[in-house]
Parts: sequence; structure tokens; C-alpha cells
Amino acid sequence: MKKKRFTVTSALLYANGPIHLGHVSGAYLPADIFVRYQKSKGNDVAFISGSDEHGAAITLQSKREGISPKEIIDKYDDLNRKTFSEFGIDFSIYHRTSSDLHHKTSQDFFLEMHKNNQFIKKTTEQFYDEENNQFLADRYISGKCPKCNEEEAYGDQCEKCGSTLSPNELINPISTLSGETPIKKKTSHWYLPMQNHEKWLKEWVENGELDSTHHHNPKEWRSQVLGQCKSWLDGGLQERAMTRDLDWGVKVPLSKENGKVLYVWMDAPIGYISATKQWAEDNNKNWEDYWKDENSELIHFIGKDNIVFHCIIFPIILKANKRYNLPKNVPANEFLNLEGEKLSTSKNWAIWLHEYLEDFKGQEDSLRYVLCATAPESKDTNFTWKDFQAKNNNELVAIFGNFINRVLVLTNKYWDGIVPPQNYLEDYDKEVLDKIKEFPENIGNSIEKFRFREALQELISLARLGNKYLADTEPWKIKKTNEKRTETIMHISLQIAASLSILSHPFLPFSSKKLKDMLNLNELNWDDAKNYNLPAGWQVNKATLLFIKIEDEKINTQIAKLKS
Ligand SMILES: [Zn+2]
Repeated sequence: MKKKRFTVTSALLYANGPIHLGHVSGAYLPADIFVRYQKSKGNDVAFISGSDEHGAAITLQSKREGISPKEIIDKYDDLNRKTFSEFGIDFSIYHRTSSDLHHKTSQDFFLEMHKNNQFIKKTTEQFYDEENNQFLADRYISGKCPKCNEEEAYGDQCEKCGSTLSPNELINPISTLSGETPIKKKTSHWYLPMQNHEKWLKEWVENGELDSTHHHNPKEWRSQVLGQCKSWLDGGLQERAMTRDLDWGVKVPLSKENGKVLYVWMDAPIGYISATKQWAEDNNKNWEDYWKDENSELIHFIGKDNIVFHCIIFPIILKANKRYNLPKNVPANEFLNLEGEKLSTSKNWAIWLHEYLEDFKGQEDSLRYVLCATAPESKDTNFTWKDFQAKNNNELVAIFGNFINRVLVLTNKYWDGIVPPQNYLEDYDKEVLDKIKEFPENIGNSIEKFRFREALQELISLARLGNKYLADTEPWKIKKTNEKRTETIMHISLQIAASLSILSHPFLPFSSKKLKDMLNLNELNWDDAKNYNLPAGWQVNKATLLFIKIEDEKINTQIAKLKS
């Protein structure tokens, strides 16, 4: 079969704070599962992400804490890079938007579009803080919400009623920098007239057609993604400013412009491309193969708050720059709530990944498992510590771990860890062996459709099948009277264990490795899971615990910590 090529991106993470479970569940874990699977199928994948180090929130935080933006971004880039790596998110590259290569790449995109008259320059009046001598980004302005009268709505949104706002709508606006009433001052910016792109965007989003040729099947896109795109397109697109008055970010590359930077639309998503360039340079590859070759598939993993970026604005930018691929799919997730409430970093209602890794050393896969099992693929879902404990103890430990433990303990006890021969197969054995062969394709199909929960359930079904086979045949009862039959049963059970070690790799990479070590297996490919991988006479190792039971005390500590 011909090798496929994928460019997989996970949303750039804002470098002004640590990673929480909502981030992981939304954009990073599903991407990592997809990438590990595709690599295991022998496909060529570039898995791209990194730190978004620009934007108003970082300058605001820098002012508040009295340290430079660079100190903030260096601190969180370091922490998040390390945390992802420890959690087994296997990026090809985790890049930074502060790199020279990224600045140059974004500026080149801007210049190309500028040259081709893709922007309109407009002068408007915007809020200006006289005390700080700066124009105010929407987030820097607060005031009374015109819709619900909440006193502290932001210039772009009211968090109370959820309305999208513009700063001009706020009643009694004040600058959050100085606390003073801002004045209005004239400023010029470059606008992208998105309405000029409506026609082809509709064709592309609704019919999957690009330049009158088939691009993708829209039925394979998630309904909430299509829904959001449609509501934007039906509402009519408008022009959007692509530059901002700010001193932190990618400078507008026109000689007369000072104090202006590219707005996040022209900056962050282009970070995927600059990251790919860096990775290609470091690994002796051609980055254009991953962004311009029509046989390469671009997939964006994001949360639902990023859909319009990746399905409307970034595609406009990509198409305006010619020959770039547009995404084949954007499997955006809904939100993960925490103990029934919305995650909130400002209210510290969050579980921080680096703290989990400290508190649950060696149990990375327990969290990967639970976050995948509760992934908000079609609606918001809820993470609770009790459910985390239950899924770990009742599924990972009691089903998966228990099966592996029984197989390895018995093999070591009966035959010093030597895989016994297969001998004569009864109908039940043949049935089980036929079933094993179906799992790689079933799990793979679900992953390819971005149905990770379904794929994970199927994986656990394989462990269930193993447990049921052992419970039905009870080899420990017939060992003394029917040695040959015991050998057959354990031979088959060991093949199930080997298949589990391969098929668990995308979801539970640490445990997959541990299990392969127990079975004395090297890296195998996905489709090897259909075959016998443990011939008679093969030496396996002693059993070690694959998953550890989590006690009430540990969970109560976490609940108390969250509520403190
Ligand atoms: Zn409101």
C-alpha cells in the first residue's frame, strides 16, 4: 500500500500560563493518538505545534507583574514543552512564534497579500489610553455590557451573558491599564475583506469542492464544525483588521509603519508553517511536501473556540498565497468541564497537567485513558475525579491490567515464561482467533474518522475478549489433567496480549511499551496485530503491574486541592 503523508497541527498554546486538562483534551491528546496511529501504519507524519508568544494578554501580564514579556514566554514555553514531553505528546516539533524564522514567514505572507492587493487600508477611530500612550486592544477595555448590564464586560465579549461585543458597544468604557476613560484617536490598519472570499468558501465548506474539483467529503466533518462555519457564512463575512497598534509581536513589514504588529490571525496559524520549515531544516526534509503537495493531508486539531480561525480565516490566507493545501478536516472538540463547572484559569478552576504528572508519577496513561474516554467530541463533557478513579480502577486495572497479569503470571508459573505450542484448535479457539484479526481494522477505522472514544472502547473490548476467553476455558483448572489444552489456551491468550501491546500504543504509549517489554517484543506495526507475534518457544518476561489502583485518599486530596 502507498504511504500517505499527513501534516497534523495542534493549536498553538498561549505562552502565558501552564497547560490544563481542557487544552489536552481539546487539541493535543486526540492529535497525538491520530499521529501515533498513522505512524504505526507506516505513514509519513509531521506533527506540529508550539507556543504562541504574542498578543495583548502577554503585554498586559508583563505590565502587571513588572517583568518583560520575554521572561513570561520563556518561563511558560519551557514548562509547557517539558510537560507535553512527559505526558507523551510526541510532536515532530514544538516551535516558538518568537523565532526569527516565524517573524520572517508571517511577514512574507503579509507582503505577498499586500502586493496582490488583498488588503484594504482604512483609518478609524479607536480607544486610546493617554496615560500609557497606547491604543487599547479589545481585551484592555472594560465596561457595562449593553445586553445584560454586567459591570465588567470586556471589549470583545461579555463573560456573563456570552455576547460577542465590540468596544464601541460598552457603556462607560474604561482602560484596564490605567483605570481611566480612554479617548478616541485615529489610526490606520490593513483589513482583509473576507466578504470577497465568501463564494469559494461556501463551495469548499458546504460541498467539499475547491476550484471546481473534489477536495474532501463534508459529511466527514463534525456537525458542530460545519454548523459554526455555516452560521458565519450565512451571516455574511465582513472585513477584519489584520494589524494592531502594539509593540509586542511580528512587526508590519512596511518601512513607514512603526508601532504596528500583525494581528493574531496573520501570526499564530502561520506558526504551523514556520514550525514545519524549522523541522524540515533540522531533519533534512522539504517543508513544501507537507504544505503544498496535493497528496499531503492537512488536519487541524483545535477546540471549538478556534473553528472560525481554522475553517475560514486561515484558509483565506492560505489560498491567497497560492498553492498551499487547505485542511482536509478540522476535528474540533467541544469543551471539557470540570466537576460540573466551566474550566476557568482566572478562577483557578482547572487541573494543571504538570501538577498531575507530579502527583501521579508513572500514571500518565491513566489520564490519557480517561481524557480519551470522556473526550468532548460531539458535546461538552465533564471530568470528575471520582469518574477518573472509577475508570482507572474498573477498566484499566480490572479489565486490561488484570488480563495481562493473569496471562503472564500463568505462563511464568507453568512454563518458566516460555510460550507453549498452539496444538489442536477447537471451534471456540478459532472463533477467538478470527475476532482478534478484526480489531486492528475496527480500531483504525474509528481513529481515521476521528472517533477516538469509539476506538478506545474497541481496544478495551479486546481486553474483555481475553478475560472472557480465560474465564470460559479456565486453564488453571485443567492444567493437571489436560496439559495440551492448557497450552492451547495460553498460547492464544498470549497472542491477544501481543495484539493489545500494539493496538494500545496510540492511546497508552507508556503501558504499550511496558507490555512489549514484558512480552519481549520490539516495535511492531499496526497491522502486525492481526498476526501471531509470539511463536512457541518465545521467552517472555515476568509480569509487572501495568496499571495501579487509585485509592480514595488520593482522590479526596485532589478534590480538596481543587476546592481550596
Ligand atoms: Zn452581558
